[in-house]
Amino acid sequence: MAIVSLANVSKSYPSPERGAPRIVAVDDVSLEIEAGEVTGIIGYSGAGKSTLVRLINALEPVTEGTVTIDGRAITGLPERELRAVRLGIGMIFQQFNLFEAKTVAQNVAYPLKVAGWGKAEITARVQELLDFVGLADKARAYPDQLSGGQKQRVGIARALATRPRILLADEATSALDPETTQEVLALLKRVNEEYGVTMVVITHEMDVIQSIATKVAVMDGGRVIEQGDVFDVFSDP
Ligand code: ADP
Ligand code: ADP
Repeated sequence: MAIVSLANVSKSYPSPERGAPRIVAVDDVSLEIEAGEVTGIIGYSGAGKSTLVRLINALEPVTEGTVTIDGRAITGLPERELRAVRLGIGMIFQQFNLFEAKTVAQNVAYPLKVAGWGKAEITARVQELLDFVGLADKARAYPDQLSGGQKQRVGIARALATRPRILLADEATSALDPETTQEVLALLKRVNEEYGVTMVVITHEMDVIQSIATKVAVMDGGRVIEQGDVFDVFSDP
């Protein structure tokens, strides 16, 4: 069953030059993300991948078409309800986006505070998450004391804190060396297998898709030009 579904979705922006045509970032995309799967979205820089993520995460409205999350069309929902949709979707980023002035534990605790969890519940959940990502001994460290791989593990713990059913990873390993990339991908695979979290992995790297994804959509010029099982899409005809 599709947990995220896009039907004829387009997103365009006004051109910075007066009178010039609008910039089309996503062009008539229809895409189904199956629950429990790892779906890769691959394409060159400028293909429209990040824009697609912002549409799925309800950070920006579509220009045309419909985005459906968990069977519910989010297009046109009021901001209050969009916030609830966003709470069900975790995100990790290329540059990790940690709060540099907060400790590892405070970073992971942050979304739980925002969601109104009680102090004891937060402490227990943060402990559980840091154990899961293997950083229990770094609870009181600050991000600038961590390696890139450790920072991304904090990012993963923070993204999973409120138990989202969907995790969006936007070039999450692009700033990491090959060995650390494999470690982080292995952790993401555990997130998928042990927690059943549906994953959308945005990347320009084929290796990342081959390591982790079962489904793939190939983007080019704002369009999805191919989608299906990784094996079928990447095997030569
Ligand atoms: P990718 O993530 O695949 O590199 P993007 O989604 O970032 O691609 O960008 C797709 C296209 O849309 C690019 O041409 C980019 O310049 C344009 N674009 C993205 N966001 C904006 C924006 N906020 N305003 C104007 N143009 C944008
Ligand atoms: P604050 O002063 O903001 O409470 P703390 O660093 O004491 O800062 O804790 C931030 C959050 O992280 C708190 O909710 C706390 O319960 C949790 N926390 C702190 N250290 C740990 C730890 N070692 N294991 C689990 N949770 C922790």
